[in-house]
Amino acid sequence: MYVHREYVNHCVPMAVLGCRPVHRFRKSGKVKVYKWNPDTLTLGLFRSPNFNQADEPDVGNGVSLTFNPDALGSRYPDSREDLVTEIRCVKPRGQIYHHKWLFVTPMYMGFNVEDSVRRSRQWMSRPGIEYSKIGYKKYWEAEVVPKLTYDESAACDNCGSMIYTWRNSSGETQCDNCGHSETT
Ligand SMILES: [Zn+2]
Repeated sequence: MYVHREYVNHCVPMAVLGCRPVHRFRKSGKVKVYKWNPDTLTLGLFRSPNFNQADEPDVGNGVSLTFNPDALGSRYPDSREDLVTEIRCVKPRGQIYHHKWLFVTPMYMGFNVEDSVRRSRQWMSRPGIEYSKIGYKKYWEAEVVPKLTYDESAACDNCGSMIYTWRNSSGETQCDNCGHSETT
């Protein structure tokens, strides 16, 4: 699961968050996104400088730590080597995050959470998206973002909305507000 740092205390066990190796990476203050896998006991800590600003923020530099289940269960692990079985640097590869509203709660103040939910609904309704490629910014910007521009010159015949209409590749006008589509 992915979680913004503001909520990481609710999602990741204290034994993991509070240990020295994790603290070392957290104290820089640059970690924004945590990726926690309770099955593999792996914690990823990632930068994402444009997390609040971008609809689909960049995955930045990161580090991934894997914990030893036995040491994590004991109150005072003997050493770092005992607690953390692997530390790996993760270099950015032009990837982005989607559905960033899932990383926070509806109370989050850093961006408009409702807008972010609407954004997810918007692009997921678009045809012809190759979901295996959307993690890469290059594909996303070339193939998906152009489908997310509303056509302000076209009003929806059904609900009258001027702001949620868009034109698909077959020239139909579609409305994100009511779902109506028509050939113009
Ligand atoms: Zn409509």
